[in-house]
Amino acid sequence: MHAMVLRQLNGPLEWSELADRVPGPGQIRVRVAACGVCRTDLHVVDGELPDPKLPIIPGHEIVGRIDAVGPGVDALSVEQRVGIPWLGHTCGVCRYCIGGKENLCDAPLFTGYTRDGGFATATIADARYAFPLGEAGEDAALAPLLCAGLIGWRSLLMAGDGKRLGLYGFGAAAHIVAQAARSQGRAVFAFTRPGDAASQAFARRLGAAWAGGSDELAPEPLDAAIIYASIGDLVPLALRAVRKGGRVVCAGIHMSDIPTFPYRLLWEERQLLSVANLTRQDGLDFLRLAPQMGIVTQTSAYRLQQANQALADLRAGRFEGAAVLLPS
Ligand SMILES: [Zn+2]
Ligand SMILES: [Zn+2]
Repeated sequence: MHAMVLRQLNGPLEWSELADRVPGPGQIRVRVAACGVCRTDLHVVDGELPDPKLPIIPGHEIVGRIDAVGPGVDALSVEQRVGIPWLGHTCGVCRYCIGGKENLCDAPLFTGYTRDGGFATATIADARYAFPLGEAGEDAALAPLLCAGLIGWRSLLMAGDGKRLGLYGFGAAAHIVAQAARSQGRAVFAFTRPGDAASQAFARRLGAAWAGGSDELAPEPLDAAIIYASIGDLVPLALRAVRKGGRVVCAGIHMSDIPTFPYRLLWEERQLLSVANLTRQDGLDFLRLAPQMGIVTQTSAYRLQQANQALADLRAGRFEGAAVLLPS
């Protein structure tokens, strides 16, 4: 197999030939057809997340076909198309796993961070954390659903059912969530980097009622806002934009420090919360609903060997929607 491997933090990914791996008990081996590129991959490469496995193969929006199954795997079979998300393994015995909150597991493994991911021609996954995808839809179009879609979906649930929804940072996750929210009859207000006319136009094309800079206020108070950009300064801005009793959801895994802000921005029962990871049920629910909601992803394709370029373009905001790596 071949992979783009991160050997040291802040370094480039290196094209590497590796020995083929054999799935162990409960595992599958998947021939990667497409793997999305997520902002979290940047946080891994930049060393902003604690204790990554090194060397590591990043990538946690994997679409591929099973080409080998390990002992004890009954629910999946060779040639089946599956999606492999960020949450790659949980312990099954901690209070969170038992309580139905496996996204908060005390001893999890995360794809492309603490276990090898999908910037590769093949990967090994825990069979319990692979979602059957069926045959509808292109591989590349499905890949962003596996994280941007899933975490986006979980953050949308956390935002409550308010009709006026603000989205801060209009990248891969927001472009999916905007479509989901529209299909639910909500009005979407998109906040981008100030002056980013291209992203604002993109948001309007996806049905946003309003799009502007994050330094602006929407024309009306929001019921909820979700922050996808990893910029702590957005927290007080979003709190300022929501109505009394409104919610601000931080959906990223990493964020720069939140500046101090006057208590009156939180006062009047506004809520500030974060979303961590996903549960398998989130995945099953969202992947079933996505076609019904008419979600169409916009992707920019790169060859697997161009992973460093894809990461650089993501960092610089040089494309709309989601980048996807294709091994062949
Ligand atoms: Zn656990
Ligand atoms: Zn992700």
